[in-house]
Amino acid sequence: MEFSDLGLSLDLVRRVAEVGYQKPTPIQEQAIPHILQGRDILGCAQTGTGKTASFTLPMIDILASGRAKARMPRSLILEPTRELAAQVATNFETMGRDHKLSMALLIGGESFTDQIKKLDRGVDVLIGTPGRLIDLFERGNILLSDIKIFVIDEADRMLDMGFIPDIERIVSLLPRIRQTLFFSATMPTEIRRLADAFLVNPREITVAPPASPAETVDHRYALVYEGDKRKVLRQLLRVSEVRNALIFCNRKKDVSHLAQSLERHGFNVGALHGDMPQVRRTATLEGFKDGRINLLVCSDVAARGLDIAGLSHVFNFDVPINPEDYVHRIGRTGRAGRSGQAVTLATGEDGKQIAAIAKLISRDIPRIDVSGFDSPSFEDDDEVRPARKGRSGGKHKSKDRRKDRDGAGNGRTPASEPAERLGASAFDAIPDRPFERLDTPPSTAAGSGRRGEDRPARRRQRDFSSDEPDQPVVGFGDHVPEFLKRPARPA
Ligand code: ADP
Ligand code: MG
Repeated sequence: MEFSDLGLSLDLVRRVAEVGYQKPTPIQEQAIPHILQGRDILGCAQTGTGKTASFTLPMIDILASGRAKARMPRSLILEPTRELAAQVATNFETMGRDHKLSMALLIGGESFTDQIKKLDRGVDVLIGTPGRLIDLFERGNILLSDIKIFVIDEADRMLDMGFIPDIERIVSLLPRIRQTLFFSATMPTEIRRLADAFLVNPREITVAPPASPAETVDHRYALVYEGDKRKVLRQLLRVSEVRNALIFCNRKKDVSHLAQSLERHGFNVGALHGDMPQVRRTATLEGFKDGRINLLVCSDVAARGLDIAGLSHVFNFDVPINPEDYVHRIGRTGRAGRSGQAVTLATGEDGKQIAAIAKLISRDIPRIDVSGFDSPSFEDDDEVRPARKGRSGGKHKSKDRRKDRDGAGNGRTPASEPAERLGASAFDAIPDRPFERLDTPPSTAAGSGRRGEDRPARRRQRDFSSDEPDQPVVGFGDHVPEFLKRPARPA
């Protein structure tokens, strides 16, 4: 199927080709013709499958006829985060370059005055987050009674972020006769209930992605002491072929601290978290997207749904608290079928979490050893060791490892020692990977026994109290998406 088969105008088909989309993705192929016919849509497709253009393209054609009146936008798109709203706006601008559609982006953290001015002139497309939209409505700056097309994008994230009451309120302000397009990566019961309430006789589209991010991403973890994490990360950044990477921390304050630390060590790095002023968030994101910054340290909420082309790596500086967040995090790489690397730094306390993640993604997460660094053992080791599908070692691998180390005297594992014996399956089992180059030069590897010297406070309690209090970081709730329950396809 080609874009020209979907019923879009010739101008738009030409524009799509210019932008570089060659063929419609499955969700685009199935949604666009029905949207053009005026049907309601319930679209369920995973992150990275091209949902945005599946509604922006037909909307551009539909809105091409008619004109907006002052303060009465003709279409409304709700997005869970400012960044996603900005991304959709960019998509409209890019695709609709040759159409004279006016657009307003209503997001928190940016000046009301500019937004209000635009609204006063009349807009065809209004894109915003639920909170800011309600603010402006309550101040009398928008009338929603002329909305013809209403889009709820990323509905499951809206649910995660507690926006459902706001959305219900907004829907109650819309005309009953309208076209509603509803998109979600997953379809938990609450989302299904909302869809049933908002949509009239929708066309339901569910697509399995050609390759889910979990399948095109190479997953590894390193087991390290808490106090070694920064050094280990720097080493990984130096030896892996990192083109650009997101580095996730669980806490906002760690985002800033880690970014500063990396900067001091000469890395080209930015930070992104929910407490930063919007101007800085936008500037940082732009710098990252156009390659001026190649590392971005971020929190879960700040990074939700970001679409960054060709992201080569995702590092988890902390193991995410919810396994579902792991999926969101690594979903930022391996997009659109490209391959990516996900590396997680785990400490001795994280065994259960790593096991839970491996289970959720139905994948083996091999361990890598970072030479020059000591590894702790997972605490309740025997029960929780992550699945390794027999790539290495026997049942009491970790204990053996500990023994080996003691036998070696200073507890350090020489780089030349066979990985198998170390229980590090990464090097021998999977050749031709950048990680092969992890071995440090002998000079570094031969540094004298750090053991005991800067032994970190490995049991330092995590403090989650400060974590994004504005927007709690939660995953899919109790819901495990269907695609994650299926066993991974063989490579
Ligand atoms: P989703 O909203 O489903 O997570 P996006 O709409 O953000 O996905 O699209 C993911 C990426 O795929 C974007 O970089 C987008 O430009 C790209 N993309 C979308 N549709 C196509 C297409 N038909 N051909 C090539 N790239 C596409
Ligand atoms: Mg999207």
